[in-house]
Amino acid sequence: MAEQPITTRAKDFPEWYQDVIRVADLAEPAIVVKGAMVIKPNGYAIWEKIQRELDDRFKATGHRNAYFPLFIPESFLKKEAEHVEGFSPELAVVTIGGGKELEERYVVRPTSETIIGHFFAKWIKTHRDLPMLINQWANVVRWELRTRLFLRTSEFLWQEGHTAHATHEEGLKEVLQMLDVYADFAENVMAMPVIRGEKTMNEKFAGAVKSYCIEGLMQNGWALQAGTSHDLGQNFGKAFDVKFQNAAGQSEFVWQTSWGVSTRLIGGVIMTHADDAGMVCPPKLAPYHVVIIPIFKTPEEKAATTEVGRKLADDLRAKGLTVVFDDRDDRPGSKYFEWERKGACARVEIGPKDLEKKSYAFKRRDLEKKEFAPLDNAVAHITGQLDQMQKDMFNKAKKYRDENTRKIDSWDDFKALHEGAGGFSSCHWCGDGKCEAQVKEETKVTIRCIPLQNAKEDGKCIKCGRPSAQRVLFARAY
Ligand SMILES: [Zn+2]
Repeated sequence: MAEQPITTRAKDFPEWYQDVIRVADLAEPAIVVKGAMVIKPNGYAIWEKIQRELDDRFKATGHRNAYFPLFIPESFLKKEAEHVEGFSPELAVVTIGGGKELEERYVVRPTSETIIGHFFAKWIKTHRDLPMLINQWANVVRWELRTRLFLRTSEFLWQEGHTAHATHEEGLKEVLQMLDVYADFAENVMAMPVIRGEKTMNEKFAGAVKSYCIEGLMQNGWALQAGTSHDLGQNFGKAFDVKFQNAAGQSEFVWQTSWGVSTRLIGGVIMTHADDAGMVCPPKLAPYHVVIIPIFKTPEEKAATTEVGRKLADDLRAKGLTVVFDDRDDRPGSKYFEWERKGACARVEIGPKDLEKKSYAFKRRDLEKKEFAPLDNAVAHITGQLDQMQKDMFNKAKKYRDENTRKIDSWDDFKALHEGAGGFSSCHWCGDGKCEAQVKEETKVTIRCIPLQNAKEDGKCIKCGRPSAQRVLFARAY
């Protein structure tokens, strides 16, 4: 059977992206539900690992999971003016329930600041109830017209942290702590280098005082916002009357934060690591770590290679790895091809000649060459190679990111870069939102963030030439 080829990245990056999702069997457009996707088992396995890694980090920083209703009274959203303005165009609204017109319409949760604000008001009475540190794993709905698997769909999975604090200082500490948690996860689990920064006022979350983000650079030179952490100040505290009695007995509004990442991270993994042969997944998130393929012609050879192969599979599973022993009745070559497309981290081949030499053939998905290694040390060698693969993938992605981050000082160079290779451009900006909006209108390039601990440097705004005190990071973005 002829396999449908994968479009190359150089030819058509969006097409390549969809092809990788298809051949790796990660997800598909729902079609019958416009804008929605079906996450298939290979894709969901990645999400489960993302959840586990993040959930451990949330618990380690004192948070607990809870669950709030999917339906939110429409009046709740209207309590915070900027919030409702930001989200109204994307809302799905329920007007009928059980065959009857509802007295109050419900919106299908686009995010949960409002309903959680309502319950925080009931739960928080004194400073002894603070900090309140909650996380929710849930689905959200935002009515999107232009959708792209994992990156932008009308329904997606995410986690949203919501916390309340006695002081602004404590809230801000939480916001930056969770940004660090996301950055650590992105770099050490996703093997995706990220820049931590502050969003401009134009790009911040609707209802926040300030938003922070982590930004990665994809292989086509576009940025991906991979996680956000918001300082909500007292905006939602005031809207939902969330008050506490401080140590001196006075009543004060709480200071809140919210922070989230979603299934778009899977899109980030694909666009950071996959190649023209298919999916490449960092071992810490991979649905398949090792595929063992026995090679035989005779029943005797089948028995001998199967015995050794199954034993190795069990030994590797005992180390916590996901291992497939693939003895299906098919040519080895087509099995190599299939597992390469699906992004299994490593392939082990065991044939009669290997058994004679007490060795096996080993091929890492991220490297070109195949090598031979002794069977008696196989478990240590393979686990060591997977650890190394995790590091090598991060270093490769970081090298790409660094090589594609450039200081740009003229408008002509700016346009040339972003019409061409793309990447991050580090440019001076006067701080005016109108100037930023003009850049976006003319080039579709946005300010991704003002990096944290940014060096101060005098310069001239890339667009208007007015004085600027620092460089900010621009890019085309998903
Ligand atoms: Zn300007």
